[in-house]
Amino acid sequence: MMKRYEVVLASRNRGKLAELERLLCAELGDSIVLKSLDDIGFTEDIEENGTTFAENALIKANAVAAKGYIALADDSGLCVGALDGAPGVFSARYAGAHGDDAANNALLLKNLEGKCDRAAAFVTVFACAFPDGSEPIVAEGRVAGEILKAPRGEGGFGYDPLFYYAPFDKTFAELDREEKNGISHRGAAVRAFARLFAARMIHSCLKEN
Ligand code: IMP
Repeated sequence: MMKRYEVVLASRNRGKLAELERLLCAELGDSIVLKSLDDIGFTEDIEENGTTFAENALIKANAVAAKGYIALADDSGLCVGALDGAPGVFSARYAGAHGDDAANNALLLKNLEGKCDRAAAFVTVFACAFPDGSEPIVAEGRVAGEILKAPRGEGGFGYDPLFYYAPFDKTFAELDREEKNGISHRGAAVRAFARLFAARMIHSCLKEN
């Protein structure tokens, strides 16, 4: 049986923590107990100035691991080929203000005006850093789709209403939570991380014995 590991999620978002806890539990049972930054009294602002999702996730995970915790962080975004990968790491603030979904979507549509190639991918990278400085785990998930010319659907957040997933003939904003987790970049990244984490823990248990 696997040990239980306390892992700090480098986020203050309780919703994100609860959702991740649920997804991880489905993969790893109760072997990971997730804590938030507030739980450990971490008050510093971590500057996400990386140029890739992996860099940003590692910056966050390393900052928390430096305080003596196993730390997990994620970074996600939308990459559009015809826009050379934009909005990429700037997905949350593509139009300027952080988290202005309506403005971000409007700018995305404007920048794609007249373009035939509307292929896109959502990407999530999870990074897990260890306080003993052992090599971090980095796990990526991605899902391919295309950007519609007008939004469809009421659910989800961010770019979901513009992100069309052909196998379901739906946008991400037309999927329910379970459907989205089954195929999404975040779901895929969580499953990839869970496999790598379990392998690492089994390996370190074997070394201990
Ligand atoms: P975060 O790194 O998970 O906070 O994601 C950064 C930004 O990428 C979000 O603010 C959204 O604009 C966009 N994004 C990431 N994941 C999704 C998704 O599943 N649907 C829609 N937008 C997303």
